[in-house]
Amino acid sequence: MILTARLVLPISGPPLVDGGLLIRDGAICAVGQASALIRDFPTEPHDDLGSVALLPGLVNAHTHLELTGLHGRLPFGRSFTEWVTALLDLRSELDAECFATSARLGATVLLRSGVTCVADITTSGSSVVPLKAAGLRGIIFQEILGLDPEQATERLDAAEKALRSLQLQASGSLLSVGLSPHAPYSLSEPLLLRCAELLQRRRLPVTMHLAESPEEVTYIGLGLGPIATTLLPAVGRHSPSHRVCGESPVAFLDRAGLLSERLLAVHLVHVGISDLQLLRQRAVALAVCPRSNHNLGVGIAPLPRFLAASLRVGLGTDSLASNDTLSLWDEMRFAHRLYGGAVTAQQFVTMATLGGAAALGMAEAIGSLAPGKRADLIALAIDHLDDADPYGSLLSQASDDSVVLSMVEGKMLYQREGVTGCNRQSH
Ligand SMILES: [Zn+2]
Repeated sequence: MILTARLVLPISGPPLVDGGLLIRDGAICAVGQASALIRDFPTEPHDDLGSVALLPGLVNAHTHLELTGLHGRLPFGRSFTEWVTALLDLRSELDAECFATSARLGATVLLRSGVTCVADITTSGSSVVPLKAAGLRGIIFQEILGLDPEQATERLDAAEKALRSLQLQASGSLLSVGLSPHAPYSLSEPLLLRCAELLQRRRLPVTMHLAESPEEVTYIGLGLGPIATTLLPAVGRHSPSHRVCGESPVAFLDRAGLLSERLLAVHLVHVGISDLQLLRQRAVALAVCPRSNHNLGVGIAPLPRFLAASLRVGLGTDSLASNDTLSLWDEMRFAHRLYGGAVTAQQFVTMATLGGAAALGMAEAIGSLAPGKRADLIALAIDHLDDADPYGSLLSQASDDSVVLSMVEGKMLYQREGVTGCNRQSH
């Protein structure tokens, strides 16, 4: 099948006005000018999508879809520690049906917003079924927490059992499975070491919240601060369950053996120069979540430094417990304003596609429109698409409602009826 559109954004190459793709058996076989593709493959069925922008499907590099129903339940404006303590508390009250309803809603929202691949963390396992049903690609990470060193073995056994269940549920889908130790401050050091050993043994992908707040830095380095005085007592503990020796969260994780190219580290708001060097040395991938960080008042991640260091960086929305929407368009727009000229519109669109794919270890398969890649793509209808600045046009105008088509492995997952075209602006 040949798909043509007024504008094709391959991401790995320059924009193509009146471009197209040749798709066979779920893969992209050729990318080029529409007229050339039609001429070179005259017997191939041809579908002209008209006045739309065609680009790779978005990759949401950090979500918790099972928490979608918590939108508005945890007011922002409190300290990070109060927020996370309240979240853990609230989450313990939710039943399987709540998680399942939330995950179903979250998967639907992702699909309609142009996401074709997601890194989702689950405690309940409820996101596998709706993501599989939607036909989305991604990695589902089983979350593990536990501050009592005495319970490390028990917690790890439970996580391994949950992982087996996730793997069974995910079979026959485009979803793979990994482990998510929640954060350096919410697992005892013995449990973190056990996780590192399991990850080494099973070669699983791993994701973890890391260096998110100033409170985390104070707690890991000094064993002090609000996490010590508020979060620990809330889970029945009165002293840190890690060796306190002045380390940064990044250095602490390195000592625990968790920094590797299979780690997708999330947030990284509070990282110094030596942390950055460690992240580079260990080839760690990152997911940044600017709106979540803003809403929780924890600071701003040094994204320009990550990009300058050529780290693999994706963009995540986090959950609706700390964000207003699951839209990566909203995330890109907010972040573009936040970082001013230090990160361009093109860099954000790249981060939300190829960057996210690389961060999830999938850059060879998805993230750009190029021969040999899987046909995961979306089409957007935008009123005023500027050919001279297509990335700027996307950031200033695109929303979930702009997405008119979504395809994974060459299979149509979503197509909106009554598509209105866009008007070309030439310079
Ligand atoms: Zn998160």
